[in-house]
Amino acid sequence: MVLDGFTLIDGTGRAPVGNAAIIIVDGRIDWLGPKSQLKVPAGAQVTHLAGKYVMPGIINLHGHLGNTVGLAQDPKNFTRENVEKQLKLYASYGVTSVLSLGTDQDLVFEMRAEQRAGRPHETRIFTAGRGFTGIDGYPTTAPGMKGMPFEVSSPADVQNDVAQLAGKKVDAVKIWVDDHLGRDKKIPLELSKAIIADAHKHGIKVAAHVFYLADAKALVDADLDGLAHSVRDQPVDDALIASMKKHGAWQAAATLTREESTFIFAQPGALLTDPFFTRGVSPTVLAILKSPEYQHKIASDPDYSKYPQFLKMAMHNLKTLSDAGVKIGFGTDSGPPVRFPGYFEQWEMELMVQAGLKPMQVLTDATHNAAEFLGAKDLGTLERGKWADLIVLDKSPLENIRNTRSIHMVVIAGNKI
Ligand SMILES: [Zn+2]
Repeated sequence: MVLDGFTLIDGTGRAPVGNAAIIIVDGRIDWLGPKSQLKVPAGAQVTHLAGKYVMPGIINLHGHLGNTVGLAQDPKNFTRENVEKQLKLYASYGVTSVLSLGTDQDLVFEMRAEQRAGRPHETRIFTAGRGFTGIDGYPTTAPGMKGMPFEVSSPADVQNDVAQLAGKKVDAVKIWVDDHLGRDKKIPLELSKAIIADAHKHGIKVAAHVFYLADAKALVDADLDGLAHSVRDQPVDDALIASMKKHGAWQAAATLTREESTFIFAQPGALLTDPFFTRGVSPTVLAILKSPEYQHKIASDPDYSKYPQFLKMAMHNLKTLSDAGVKIGFGTDSGPPVRFPGYFEQWEMELMVQAGLKPMQVLTDATHNAAEFLGAKDLGTLERGKWADLIVLDKSPLENIRNTRSIHMVVIAGNKI
């Protein structure tokens, strides 16, 4: 397959290159350069893309596959059909890889193996398998979450469960470290430390759900690899920044859209009539979101008034960490009810720009950086030898980040989606 005439944004952060061309063979980038030097291989299928923009596919480092149908989350929903449906939805929005963070069942390993044996036609699966919390710890009290994470009570439990995950070759290990605004039990720090140490013995990175600055600091000091949410209780400080840089810890996912999702549906406004949103939402769910009863229910949440502040704090902290030179990845926490796969990743990029990042930074975080966190050496940028996972856009995302929505075509492993 040959694509030519487009402006290339290769994901490395380098300036865009006009009038570029790419040759894709067996799903990988065989050649890439100026159109003037293109030698079209015999029998190649050539697609002219004058005026278009090509960027790497988006990589979401924080998703949850397969458990949600409509607005209900339940482990019984975790079927091949439901996981595939979600992967196709992600792909249609230009999200070409997703790291499912701690709520998967063993079927996920089978599906991942099938993808890796060939050239997938849907978003690539990365998985943490089952994540960790303490006995009855957060988030096991949330609807449909009981039984999803391991609930550990001793370092011996940790050792067994991490070994089990390592045997399945998980792409990351997940810990939930939160008390849900004081309502739930938080996993003890000593067990989190044991999880990090054991995972590292197996060569696996650890990402943690955090909310509080104090937890982020304690975990990063214990060599945590990635924060899977922004710190939201207070501004990040110099001590956390210094520790993140010293330990090479990432703000792996800022999940700004996750914060939006906690309050936006009380007053969704124009969102519910935006075709780019509605195309990924079933009519049944849309009808519920439109109903005054549902909107009132969201507004009646006892913590409703706090949620916009958490979003503001998350945005502030993302900008602080990014400016300080901490490595920033990309992720949304999409998949659970009202966190819509695909749309949320597109929206997250817009919120990151609103937080003060430049469009080029955001595009690099969501592609090159996210792949680096995953250790996926053949994803994340458009360079010779890498997988042809890319998005063709009608308008420049560097001029306006919302132009990542002007999707003309999505390609995964050389397959037009
Ligand atoms: Zn999550």
